[in-house]
Amino acid sequence: MDFYPVAIEKLIEEFAKLPGIGKKTAQRLALFVLNLPKEEVDEFAGALINARGTIKYCSVCGSFTDTDPCSICSNPNRDKSIICVVENPKDIMTMEKVREFNGVYHVLHGTISPMSGRGPEDIKLRELIRRINGEVEEVIVATNPNIEGEATAMYISKILKPLGTKVTRIAHGIPVGGDLEYIDEVTLSKALEGRKEI
Ligand SMILES: [Zn+2]
Repeated sequence: MDFYPVAIEKLIEEFAKLPGIGKKTAQRLALFVLNLPKEEVDEFAGALINARGTIKYCSVCGSFTDTDPCSICSNPNRDKSIICVVENPKDIMTMEKVREFNGVYHVLHGTISPMSGRGPEDIKLRELIRRINGEVEEVIVATNPNIEGEATAMYISKILKPLGTKVTRIAHGIPVGGDLEYIDEVTLSKALEGRKEI
């Protein structure tokens, strides 16, 4: 067992809080940072503080933004009649890479998961319902094709249909249990094209 000065232990502890980082990797990252020139460490720390301080959630779609509304919501060329619903802000980046979708987004910030005790009130569903007006013609549910993603899609369909909104689901070509992030652009483009009403 290694014993480090308190400051290093603290740094390791902080790295270990990051998703997918175990104690060993945290140790490696901490020691790597300590070997960097001081200016680089200052830049790194500054970037963290600056991002956390300036980035907020878009009051319309819930994505990360430094302006409110975000650049997509405030773009007059985006079609406000189609809302694509995603789980996380990073899914918007994935969808944008496809360059075929010209509507707007809504970020749920999670999924419904009865197994983990997460219900509809734990994600940004109320905010989505509030956006449904006469202008919105279609809601495309692009949650991940796993149990939680499907359950969330079915729930959204159930509550939006009575409001007269067409609800579709991207499905075609996306492997069950997959994650949107790891799907190549051609498959995602096909999935968008082959969406089905739910
Ligand atoms: Zn927005």
